[in-house]
Amino acid sequence: MSDSMRVGVVGAGTMGAGIALVALQAGLPVVLCDVQEGVLQRAKQEMERRLARRVEKGELTADVVTAMLGNLRLSTEMAALADAAVVIEAVPERMSLKQSIFAQLDEVCQDTAILATNTSSLSITEIAAQTQHPHRVVGMHFFNPAPVMKLVEVVVGEETSAQTVEAVVNLAEQFGKTPAVCKDTPGFIVNRVARNFYGEALRVVGDGTASTEVVDRLMHGNARFPLGPFSLMDMIGIDVNFDVTTSVYEAFYGEPRYRPHPIQARKVAVGQLGRKSGRGFYRYDDEAGGPPRDRQAFYSSEEQQTERRSALSAERVYVVGDTPLAASLRAWVASVVGTEASDCGLVYEGPVFEWDSAAIAARCTELTRCIHAAQPKVVIAAFAGEPAYHRQALQAVEQGLTEDALLLTSLAGPSATEQASWLARPARVRGFATVLPLPEPGRGKTIAWTRPLQADAADALDDRTVGLLQLLGWTPLQVRDGAGGVVMRILAMVLNEAAEALREGVAKASDMDAAMKLGTRYPLGPVQWMKELGIASVWQTVNALWRELGDDRYRPSPLLRQWWYARKIDVEEGPNHA
Ligand code: NAD
Repeated sequence: MSDSMRVGVVGAGTMGAGIALVALQAGLPVVLCDVQEGVLQRAKQEMERRLARRVEKGELTADVVTAMLGNLRLSTEMAALADAAVVIEAVPERMSLKQSIFAQLDEVCQDTAILATNTSSLSITEIAAQTQHPHRVVGMHFFNPAPVMKLVEVVVGEETSAQTVEAVVNLAEQFGKTPAVCKDTPGFIVNRVARNFYGEALRVVGDGTASTEVVDRLMHGNARFPLGPFSLMDMIGIDVNFDVTTSVYEAFYGEPRYRPHPIQARKVAVGQLGRKSGRGFYRYDDEAGGPPRDRQAFYSSEEQQTERRSALSAERVYVVGDTPLAASLRAWVASVVGTEASDCGLVYEGPVFEWDSAAIAARCTELTRCIHAAQPKVVIAAFAGEPAYHRQALQAVEQGLTEDALLLTSLAGPSATEQASWLARPARVRGFATVLPLPEPGRGKTIAWTRPLQADAADALDDRTVGLLQLLGWTPLQVRDGAGGVVMRILAMVLNEAAEALREGVAKASDMDAAMKLGTRYPLGPVQWMKELGIASVWQTVNALWRELGDDRYRPSPLLRQWWYARKIDVEEGPNHA
């Protein structure tokens, strides 16, 4: 697109005004249309205010701002868009309204003009169907606030031409944005892959596994999401989030992975909509309001570090497993204790298949022998793979243990109760769940732990578990036992959805990673995250959830299953827009 091409924007509300400003700041002439003159004037004032702030900050000169504002034309008539090379529509989210606007644009604009819609949930193909030239209709999904958020989802309708896609990808880049190209499927990338961040969190609370506060403390303090799912729903508006969920669910004709939750409906019914109504999952109407914050610091002083080192050495912590988590935990323990990783455990590179009985037997013999030699008081186990292999590995670990040793096992897979059932002394087991990368030690880093049903409540091992996790630098939070231990349960469901969207060809891996990091500020893109955790852990967690919870929404994506058997996350790398 040329430097002087005119950009038309239809609708001067929250998004339209923001998009117009983005185009002006890219140095392009803009025509902004709305049916209400007052809205146009307010939009202009808002742009002036934002630009003035940039002048104050020294980012722009007054002359440049004057030139930008001189490039802006306001109009209540669609005819003003006649000379626009591209028009971006941002009117309210109603199919009939969008279709009528596109039919008018088709009449008014040049035959070569690109017609883009900022819809967040409607089908581009259906909008384009009302035009004579559906090949030049495309989605350009900006995020709120448009001048700040870096992502633009470029949504390709059934009939959108390759030239149109290329032109809007270039335009998005000219705007200083990162385009992520995706197919015209419900929710596009972000609103689809993010669904289970909310949906699974609601189920965790709904089935009594953990409270909203604990879920938020884990997803923020352990998994490093900028906000926990409940704090985020309060910010977005519980009603808005519920509407998006319902629309994606209906657009997929009742696919259970997107099923809304009754908690959402109840909150909307009583008007507890989040921050905007003073109350949602949290209260915002008094000073103590808002979501919880973890501030407790552990072992920050030199003295405390020494105390920690000697306490951990005395526990003789030994890490075993076959996952990247096991490798990270072993390195972690070694760095705290101040010794070599090889002294702190035995970690294999990946599980073996359950039919490879010779390899399993060899591993089991070595595991028992090494644990017997190390005489640990605590073993941290993080195995993945099929249940038969996992069971034998854990049994081999137990055979090397002394009577009173504690066995902490990863919940990136079956519940602690299920894993404990494989052992002679099930009451010695506790479950823990954390994601990778491990959080740096320090303030408020949380971790989930569980007690299996075979152990008595308030058993002394509970205190040992809490003490040990604190020694490792975490704030331990107890949740009810279950596959995935909350934090891996929610994350694995997000990753399962990402795998399914990749399988359906919704977007390339690089575009999906860019979209989730820039559109929702995830700490890692889903594909990057699967690689970090290892396919075995992700696959095993989803599979364990499916076996434990039974609902079809947990069925693993066939792609996860195939990657597990192929031992690699095999994604087609596209042009990297990130
Ligand atoms: P908004 O209500 O703030 O603004 C819509 C504007 O469109 C209003 O100013 C209205 O006067 C104008 N309008 C209505 N009918 C018109 C017509 N026939 N011709 C010209 N103007 C007309 O809405 P919004 O939040 O800016 O959302 C606009 C679109 O952007 C929707 O499709 C929405 O789904 C999408 N979107 C919104 C967000 C968000 O967070 N608000 C984020 C991404 C995408």
